[in-house]
Amino acid sequence: MTIRMSQPRTIIWFSTGAASAVAARLVLRDTPDAILARCETGNEDADNHRFEADVERWLGRSVTLLKSEKYASVWDVWQKRRYMSGPDGAPCTMFMKVMPRLEFQRPDDIHVFGYTADSSDIKRFEKLRDTYFELTVRAPLIEAGITKAATLAMIERAGIDLPRSYAMGFPNANCLQSGCVKATSPAYWALYRRHFPENFERIAAYSKEIGKKLVRIDDERVFLDELPLDHPVTAPIVPACDFLCHIAEQELGEAA
Ligand code: SF4
Repeated sequence: MTIRMSQPRTIIWFSTGAASAVAARLVLRDTPDAILARCETGNEDADNHRFEADVERWLGRSVTLLKSEKYASVWDVWQKRRYMSGPDGAPCTMFMKVMPRLEFQRPDDIHVFGYTADSSDIKRFEKLRDTYFELTVRAPLIEAGITKAATLAMIERAGIDLPRSYAMGFPNANCLQSGCVKATSPAYWALYRRHFPENFERIAAYSKEIGKKLVRIDDERVFLDELPLDHPVTAPIVPACDFLCHIAEQELGEAA
């Protein structure tokens, strides 16, 4: 009798952005049975869903959505726990992204990420490899020398409109329906207020209700409704929300 060993799975982590879409395109050429996966936060911008559907058609592959069994959305986490972010990070990352991933992954999985050949991404990938040394990880865009700008151009050449968050000026499209509570950058929140005034009001009211000062101005924490109306929106910073979230937070004090 022949005993067949099961092959390790390849999981491509899709983030509804251009880079992970191109990484998926590269990997699926050689590994057609790779799984395209994304953690659903319940707070994606509607245009991210449109982009995801376009990318699914481009790749000929559906995205496997990983969801929390306990919480419906990032807002649900914040409200049920009455907590948005703190020194130990943001609970939405843990419950909407980290835990669904841990439940889904197997020890021998091969994890594929859309880190690009830009220096900041290379460093981030190296950090990920060092931190999760027990995981098998790949960054095909770095292997192929493809930068973030190149991925944007490749998506446009494929006839796919980029998610509208790029044109709005956001560095990434994470949780646009709620804003990202790991961001302390006043420029990020000023930009968010400009594009999503009603959502901003809701976050400002709730964060004040639970006493959370989300934004940092000149080294001082302030409530969102204290953010000056004329604050510039240039160079908004919002941390990536990925495997390295907690490490980045500890080092930068981002969510403190
Ligand atoms: S992107 Fe921000 S708001 Fe969304 S899950 Fe991550 S930490 Fe929470």
